[in-house]
Amino acid sequence: MVDGLVEEGWRAFLAREFGELSAEEEREVAAMVIDELDRHLWRVVDAAYDRLACEECGGRLSRGPGGCATCDRAHGYRYAAVEVDRPGVVPGNEHALRVNVSVVRRPYGISEKELLARRLALPILLEGHLPTTAQAQAARAILARGGSGEEYAAHIYRDLG
Ligand SMILES: [Zn+2]
Repeated sequence: MVDGLVEEGWRAFLAREFGELSAEEEREVAAMVIDELDRHLWRVVDAAYDRLACEECGGRLSRGPGGCATCDRAHGYRYAAVEVDRPGVVPGNEHALRVNVSVVRRPYGISEKELLARRLALPILLEGHLPTTAQAQAARAILARGGSGEEYAAHIYRDLG
């Protein structure tokens, strides 16, 4: 589902700017996007990284294991990409979505509970909600006490009214 979000953005970008491309041409476009990533939407940039191989670890660029310097650097650059809230959502929603997608797709250096909370928040963010920090922390405390994903989500939805 998370990869699908990013892919959707990529397909829309290609259709708008280029039409049908071969896999090789897509990689060329991906390299071009990464060269000027501050001019593109974050979903397009994340999908472009997926199409490029890391010269250091051989994985998908920016998603290599923790400790690959090239991937770490690429991961840092990704935040220069543009984010635009979707129509009708709470301002800041797209940023929260972007951060959660980034963490779920590159889950290094965080706890399992944190990863679970990030993953559980995705559908809520996709619906256009934006829990406050306090609401998110209260919901995470439920997970920390051994609560289920359903209880986590139910708590957030109750807080959101
Ligand atoms: Zn790497």
